[in-house]
Amino acid sequence: MVEVPIICPNCQTDDIVKHGFSTAGKQRYYCRNKQCSRKVFILKYTNKGHLPIVKKTIVDMAINGSGIRDTARVLEISPLTVISTLKKKNPSLLT
Ligand SMILES: [Zn+2]
Repeated sequence: MVEVPIICPNCQTDDIVKHGFSTAGKQRYYCRNKQCSRKVFILKYTNKGHLPIVKKTIVDMAINGSGIRDTARVLEISPLTVISTLKKKNPSLLT
């Protein structure tokens, strides 16, 4: 059996332990890096809005003048995800 190293999508550390299963039945992992802001993650998200790269793209698109509905359509996520992400990451973009 081949072991694939699992790294945290937030801090790239490999100090990861298993952490039960998500409601969709996927293996959850727990990041043991104390400096990491993200503790629990799964490898294959069904909900793309949870991916750090998607959250970064939401903010980048808002800075470049894309509207909430534009961003949601391009990234195939809900407009509500776009709004809540912007509220958390950069409230000044929601004016
Ligand atoms: Zn981490």
